[in-house]
Amino acid sequence: MEKTDFSTWLKKMNLSHPLVIAGPCSAETEEQVLTIAHQLKETDTTVFRAGIWKPRTRPGNFEGNGAVALPWLTRVKQETGLLTTAEIANAQHAKLAMEFDIDIIWIGARTTVNPFAVQEIADALQGTDKIVLIKNPVNPDLSLWMGAIERMFKSGIKNLGAIHRGFSTFKNSKYRNNPQWQIPIDLQQKYPTLPIICDPSHICGEREGIFDVCQTALDLKFDGLMIETHYDPDNAWSDARQQITPQRLAEITKALRVRKDRVEEADSLRKLKTLRKEVNQLDKQLIEILGQRMEVVEGIGRVKREGNVAILQRTQWGKVMQRVVDQANAHGLSEEFIEKVFKSIHQESIDHLTPFRGTCGITIKNNPVILFPIFVAIWQI
Ligand code: PEP
Ligand code: MN
Repeated sequence: MEKTDFSTWLKKMNLSHPLVIAGPCSAETEEQVLTIAHQLKETDTTVFRAGIWKPRTRPGNFEGNGAVALPWLTRVKQETGLLTTAEIANAQHAKLAMEFDIDIIWIGARTTVNPFAVQEIADALQGTDKIVLIKNPVNPDLSLWMGAIERMFKSGIKNLGAIHRGFSTFKNSKYRNNPQWQIPIDLQQKYPTLPIICDPSHICGEREGIFDVCQTALDLKFDGLMIETHYDPDNAWSDARQQITPQRLAEITKALRVRKDRVEEADSLRKLKTLRKEVNQLDKQLIEILGQRMEVVEGIGRVKREGNVAILQRTQWGKVMQRVVDQANAHGLSEEFIEKVFKSIHQESIDHLTPFRGTCGITIKNNPVILFPIFVAIWQI
């Protein structure tokens, strides 16, 4: 699978900009679908999206018009020349989507979590040359996402891609679905040719943050964007708060910057080289300091063992956290970031001090378990 070039379908589109998929969350009426599609024809949109079957978290919300809406998408294609895409969630949907010649089929986040449903769809789509896009599962699990892509691949589907729509979280967050960018980046590392599209609408849950999330996605070399678009967003039958008008979509795509792959100008190259050296130097110091810290912690451990005192004193740890958070604030570092780093350091210290591991001599200098989360956390700021 690693050797397959999944990007052929996207290259064939021959676009001068990232792929734009746009359209309403739900296909509400034939008139709504066609009006939006005609407005989107005047933008950078290549693919028209509309939900036919809507997976709603709670019953009682609009669950889509179902198969009666499929011919509306056929009309979109005929009248505007836009390609069409819709979500499918079972074998029956898959058959209908192929019958009505939907160009791109996507698998929703609530389906990707379920290997039975994914396999049922993979079997129904067996050998199709349709493009199949797989949204990330609702929970932050890279293996589940990869598993769904692999199931499609094993079913003979080569025109594949992924959609990143963020991950649901219990925590209060400014996002409806936390982007956790490291996960789609890991997916890109696993399948470097697999096109990956960002869905800022479901990440944000409201329209204000959409531009920023789009720009971050492009900065991370995503191949396209899927943006929910409606001529009357406030009165949309589903996901009203996160939809934008076709006019706003045009403004956003105009303002977005597509970065170059590498720096070309000699002056910028020189500056970058110096800055990278500086970062390498700081990383070295960081590792040395972490090593020193671990030695001191081991000293504390010895004293505690001699005095038969428990390793963890909760009040002590609370004080450490409070102190580092205060210091982090003073340096413009976020509380969330510094908590992540120190929890990771603390976990490693506990592992060093637990009796069964004792002083087994693991040093931080070459311990990826502690270094990796720190570098990830540092990189994410
Ligand atoms: C959608 O795209 O309208 C949708 C329901 O998405 P998700 O599967 O990401 O929730
Ligand atoms: Mn939606």
